[in-house]
Amino acid sequence: MHVLVCEDDELIASGIKAGLSAQGMIVEHVATAAAARAMLRAAEFDVMVLDLGLPDEDGLKLLAQLRQKGLELPVLILTARDSVTDRVDGLQAGADDYLLKPFDLRELFARLQTLLRRVAGRSVNLIEHGALSYDPSSRVTLLGGQPVDLSRREQALLQALLHNRGRVLSSEQLKDSVYGFGDELESNALNVHIHHLRRKLGNGIVETVRGLGYRLGPAGSEDSRA
Ligand code: CA
Repeated sequence: MHVLVCEDDELIASGIKAGLSAQGMIVEHVATAAAARAMLRAAEFDVMVLDLGLPDEDGLKLLAQLRQKGLELPVLILTARDSVTDRVDGLQAGADDYLLKPFDLRELFARLQTLLRRVAGRSVNLIEHGALSYDPSSRVTLLGGQPVDLSRREQALLQALLHNRGRVLSSEQLKDSVYGFGDELESNALNVHIHHLRRKLGNGIVETVRGLGYRLGPAGSEDSRA
């Protein structure tokens, strides 16, 4: 799960980053609206946490502009402004959810999970795919009811595939989901994770789409384990 956090308060930002990373999310942090724009152009994200009081621009203005340009990413706004007007303005600008400062990191995590579920059109936490089930909050993967031990990167890769069912993801998009920007990346690292995921969950879990990238294999194909 690749999260963009746009927040100029370093203390709050580092708390969010630590809290969400501990839950297995890959977090990028920027402190200005300009940096957020640049980051959104450079990488694929699953969700954005946006502070409204930014040094270079109002967060609401940034959000409204991003929506106008067609950005579909779910956005949760953070603000210290507690008024109905601000809440309504936020939702009209295209926010999907709203959290008042100060907030509990566990609540932020739970709200982000809910947003991601809503976007993926699911009403329960568990993501099921044939014999495979994955719980994003506990990060437990079951295959035919048996727990499968996945590394953090493998989990991130599996999540990206499950959240984009039916879509082909390029290597670059998958790398964005699995790695943060600061991470050192071996050129074949993604292939290694794909190999491990196929070994643990069956060859059919990841389909190679020649020349384009990868996608989640059809449900049921995970039975044919390599
Ligand atoms: Ca601020």
